[in-house]
Amino acid sequence: MTATHPGAVVAGGLDVARLRHDFPVLRAVVNGRPLAYLDNGATSQKPRAVVEAESDFALLENANVHRGVHTLSQRATARYDAVREQLRRFLNAAVADEIVFTSGTTAAINLVAQSYGRSVLRPGDEILLSEMEHHSNIVPWQLVAEAVGARIRAIPVTGTGELDLDAVPALLTDRTRIVAITHVSNVLGTVNPVRRIADLAHAAGAVVLVDGAQGVPHLPVDVQALGADFYVASAHKMYGPTGVGFLYGRLALLEAMPPWQGGGGMIQTVSFEGTTYAPVPARFEAGTPPVCQVMGLGAAIDYLGQLDWAAVQRHEAELLGYAIERVGTVPGVRFIGTAREQVGVLSFVLEGIHPHDVGTVLDLHGVAVRASHHCAQPLMRRFGVSGTVRASFALYNTRAEVDQLVGGLREARKVFGS
Ligand code: PMP
Repeated sequence: MTATHPGAVVAGGLDVARLRHDFPVLRAVVNGRPLAYLDNGATSQKPRAVVEAESDFALLENANVHRGVHTLSQRATARYDAVREQLRRFLNAAVADEIVFTSGTTAAINLVAQSYGRSVLRPGDEILLSEMEHHSNIVPWQLVAEAVGARIRAIPVTGTGELDLDAVPALLTDRTRIVAITHVSNVLGTVNPVRRIADLAHAAGAVVLVDGAQGVPHLPVDVQALGADFYVASAHKMYGPTGVGFLYGRLALLEAMPPWQGGGGMIQTVSFEGTTYAPVPARFEAGTPPVCQVMGLGAAIDYLGQLDWAAVQRHEAELLGYAIERVGTVPGVRFIGTAREQVGVLSFVLEGIHPHDVGTVLDLHGVAVRASHHCAQPLMRRFGVSGTVRASFALYNTRAEVDQLVGGLREARKVFGS
């Protein structure tokens, strides 16, 4: 059963009602209510064009890449590499060889940790993270730090959910080799001053990895302007498919990095006496890549490319402002994260009610949010909570969905008392 959500309007110059037609799942009915999908930080919905790009490829053009002389394989290879070029433009990378396809953000960070990290880190070296990192930007570094005897340090987070920049100079030492920070916090929505941190890191002789998982869905990204040496993200949070993401790496860094995973596609010659490796980016794409999903990612970039980004950003900012105002009227709400620059995400707790209970009541109202530690346990500890309720927004969300969220929160208040 489906229903049209009543709040689909023209907002901030963006024709949200028309856009919503591109996402059939948004017409779903959940527990008798129109779905209000506010879990975009976990995964965004996919427009029809993305799913069709994947299914058309699978049904009509499927072939493996880089291996065949036959026509279908050559076509698939050309299209696969065309998406690499699309990503180059999308991120303003200097050359397409700086883009490595991975299975997502997590895989991309592990790649950098195990290849770059393992080759440069020496015992006593330091890796600087922040207290607001997703576990995906903590645990891969811990694994390599343990293996080489390096040390992890973390930039503290202020009470408003911003990085404490005053603490950075003292944390950057002559032993710091890598600084890895998130572009946008998946819990707080804080947009971090990446360029400033990158400048400080570079002056200290460190390289900078930016976790862009929550950046690319909301902000135009220019890896060169950001000063990122590595930038990573997942397609499924930017209206694309699961199972694919990317690593951007500065060419000189990638070229100096040893392979991490071995297999087909990443070699030049193999013999039992010794193997030589393919140039980048193939060196880091061992095995059959997610070819269908890469086609879907290309369609997602096309989809984003035809939107008026200024209008998208205006709409998302208006919606977040509206959500802060309306959710703030619910008795006992405490926001976790009130940064000056915030996009896409609103986290809060309802005093006296466990976030899971809030999430369950909201689900009965057709509202999909996340209620957990959001894979950011150090940040939960920083704010003294076990978890939060997180509403996360996409370009297709509406004020009516925010109202539905607020209705559900008032109901949770009633059910669980104050
Ligand atoms: N970093 C951040 C900031 C995220 O929000 C997420 C996903 N929640 C990840 C990394 C991990 O992304 P994936 O699971 O797609 O690898």
